[in-house]
Amino acid sequence: MAIKKKRVARELLFGDLWEFDPAPETAPAFIADRYGLFINGEFVAPKSKKWIDSISPRDEKKISEIALAGQADVNAAYAAAARAFPAWSKLPGAERGKYLYRLARLLQDRAREFAVAETIDGGKPIREARDFDVPMAAAHFFYHAGWADKLEYAAPGRDLKALGVVGQVIPWNFPLLMLAWKLAPALALGNTVVLKPAETTSVTALKFAELIRDVGLPKGVVNIVTGAGETGAAVVKHPTAAKIAFTGSTGVGKWIQRELAGTGKRLTLELGGKGANIVFEDAAIDQAVEGIINGIFFNQGHVCCAGSRLLVQESIEVEVLRKLKLRMKSLRTGDPLDKNTDIGAINSKRQWERITELVDAGVSEGAEIYQNDCTLPKKGFYFPPTLLCGVTQSHRVVKEEIFGPVLSVLTFRTPDEAVEKANNTAYGLSAGVWTDKGSKYLAVASQLKAGVVWGNSFNKFDPASPFGGFKESGFGREGGRQGLLEYGELV
Ligand code: NAD
Repeated sequence: MAIKKKRVARELLFGDLWEFDPAPETAPAFIADRYGLFINGEFVAPKSKKWIDSISPRDEKKISEIALAGQADVNAAYAAAARAFPAWSKLPGAERGKYLYRLARLLQDRAREFAVAETIDGGKPIREARDFDVPMAAAHFFYHAGWADKLEYAAPGRDLKALGVVGQVIPWNFPLLMLAWKLAPALALGNTVVLKPAETTSVTALKFAELIRDVGLPKGVVNIVTGAGETGAAVVKHPTAAKIAFTGSTGVGKWIQRELAGTGKRLTLELGGKGANIVFEDAAIDQAVEGIINGIFFNQGHVCCAGSRLLVQESIEVEVLRKLKLRMKSLRTGDPLDKNTDIGAINSKRQWERITELVDAGVSEGAEIYQNDCTLPKKGFYFPPTLLCGVTQSHRVVKEEIFGPVLSVLTFRTPDEAVEKANNTAYGLSAGVWTDKGSKYLAVASQLKAGVVWGNSFNKFDPASPFGGFKESGFGREGGRQGLLEYGELV
């Protein structure tokens, strides 16, 4: 690969800056011009006769048209799922497992195509779609395929029965991976599904419907309806649903909880977060800086468990910030299809506006802003990696989820102060603790009110590890044995 050496005057710290030539991923994504709804094993035109454009945040170009499902379409999807339920739930677990294995294998076969489609549709760097989203999605199907014929070990001494038809609504930050998190455990247990992807990122779910068709999954076991909030509300409120599983914003999650109160439907909510990444003075600083970068800039910061509040011990603040800024200079923000890109496009104009509004609010409340001095593409939605220093716990940017590449920096003096500040949030999804001392890690982690606490690492995931939150981050777990139990009834 050709590498050009460029002298950039502002790069005082680096002296010389090495620039990579563009390295675009060129594999075709095979995105259809138009996708119908996937109901009863086939793509059908919406009864609503409405369609919406799906655009790429990379360059704002239209990439496809997706159906806008109305109430009649959602009814049809639930009817198909209800018809499919008796046979699917009675199938021996080993047989259901075979379908899940086939889905995982077929996804692996077409991994490159799915990664490119995910990047074009959602804006995430191809490096992440290729190395994280698609392999992890396949891993969830493999993992749950393994459970399907071993359910008696998930609840020893008890019988685990499928719930019925499950309604699932997923967000736009990990479209394919969230589909896998939702579908795999539901199907392993014998439930049938009506799934609604996010309106800005439906393409890979609809491409996945092709795999569902190709593996010969019985008709109606998985139905995919596309559309925006109204379609989601119709999925949530449908009387046929035995359970709703939702991942998205806390506001919508609260509305769903109110809506479902008294209906007897089961509910799991995976909502927002404002994770604290705590760095103690005895930590390996260079390693911690990598963890801070990964914690906030992975997937443009569109991560519910992002480490969006850095809590750094006062004695090392200067050193950590110096190293962090230096490391940030090497991050490449731009075309997500470029294999060298670290930070791709913000998922939508609406999300870009929300990030901009919150950062402006932070600055007007007195935050010192540090941003990478990078050239952003003219078309598409891009936001440079950003630090907000000199903030306090009352700043909006410290309290509210920004869901973008923006890190708020706070300091602390003692472990008790770190714990108090980390827990001073409405959320409770994730945290990270960086220290050389195992005893300090255990003492601090056990006091943090967060569903996951990483030690000397951040944003590590495994299908066998349950994930979920406390407080306004929601309830219920996804992944592992605990996640499986959310889709069954113990009898
Ligand atoms: P959202 O909650 O509105 O959307 C998530 C999903 O819910 C989408 O599929 C959407 O169509 C659907 N939805 C919207 N209204 C609904 C309703 N009334 N009933 C049922 N489904 C409904 O999220 P957003 O507006 O796209 O993003 C706003 C903020 O939410 C972000 O800035 C971020 O802070 C947060 N968010 C969190 C996650 C997460 O993984 N926890 C994911 C996406 C967004």
